[in-house]
Amino acid sequence: MAIQNYSRPTSEAEAAALFAADPGACALAGGTDILIQERAGKPVGTLVDVKHIPGLMEIAWSGEGVRIGAAVPCAALTADARLNELFPGLVEAIELIGSVQIQSRCSVGGNLCNASPAADTTPALLVNLATAIIVGPKGERQLPVTEFTKGPGKTVLRSGEFLTALTLPLPEPNRSDAALRLIPRTEMDIAAANAAVSLGLDEAGHCSGLRLAIGAVGPTAVLIPEAGAQLEGRPLDENALEELAELARAAAQPIDDKRGTVEYRRHVIGVLAQRAAVKAKQRVERGDE
Ligand SMILES: Cc1cc2nc3c(=O)[nH]c(=O)nc-3n(C[C@H](O)[C@H](O)[C@H](O)COP(=O)(O)OP(=O)(O)OC[C@H]3O[C@@H](n4cnc5c(N)ncnc54)[C@H](O)[C@@H]3O)c2cc1C
Repeated sequence: MAIQNYSRPTSEAEAAALFAADPGACALAGGTDILIQERAGKPVGTLVDVKHIPGLMEIAWSGEGVRIGAAVPCAALTADARLNELFPGLVEAIELIGSVQIQSRCSVGGNLCNASPAADTTPALLVNLATAIIVGPKGERQLPVTEFTKGPGKTVLRSGEFLTALTLPLPEPNRSDAALRLIPRTEMDIAAANAAVSLGLDEAGHCSGLRLAIGAVGPTAVLIPEAGAQLEGRPLDENALEELAELARAAAQPIDDKRGTVEYRRHVIGVLAQRAAVKAKQRVERGDE
């Protein structure tokens, strides 16, 4: 790997100054995307290793939710008992990434910042109302993850800014989530389509505050707000599931490529939306949330 420069800041301010001084500088978390990009000939500027900044490698729980440091390796997240208990769908999305070896290095922050339309954790972040904590030369700002990705490889990060953490509010009682994807091969592939659902059940067992997000079928993963509105207070029966699939298909803007045609992806995203909703509901009913 022909890296010219490497810096290891130990504070957010030091990192922000490094990014501001060198517009080509690149945050290094696990490096699992950077390595591939460098090998593909993409110029990689100064690597700013963010893993030694306090908080970037920490998972912190509070009465309000969880703060996941932007560089925490995925393996540490899947080993976190509370994350498994409260956000099983996010954990299953993380477990989709690559392999055990890749998960021991890669981060959810890197998965988001890399801004691949097929990033497997993004739909699960969207349905769990994740907020991006961003630090730059002007200090800290917070942004819902719904606004973070602008297109393939593009984020809202401005010159000098980097992601320090993702925060997720605690889910209310009787709510759980699920995430699914389809890949053309059985191992190590990129999603042809992926989807996540977070849903609550009211006392009657009907949908409450359902959230559906889809990915790999458009330039960015998207939350589909109409899904929650349309299914509010209704049982998740055959009709509701068909409407959910139709909403997912309508929101999808897939492309044709070696992983599937437009038509195939549009069909699959509807199926994934339905199955993720059923899985999340079953988790609530079993008390897995
Ligand atoms: C073999 C293999 C299989 C894979 N399989 C999958 C898969 O199934 N699903 C999937 O979604 N992905 C997959 N990936 C992609 C990859 O592992 C993820 O995108 C990973 O989560 C990126 O995290 P990282 O910490 O390695 O990021 P890095 O490679 O360190 O960084 C990725 C990008 O994000 C930027 N970045 C990182 N952290 C920050 C920050 N804190 N602030 C600002 N910018 C930042 C970097 O500058 C870089 O541009 C695979 C990769 C490999 C090599």
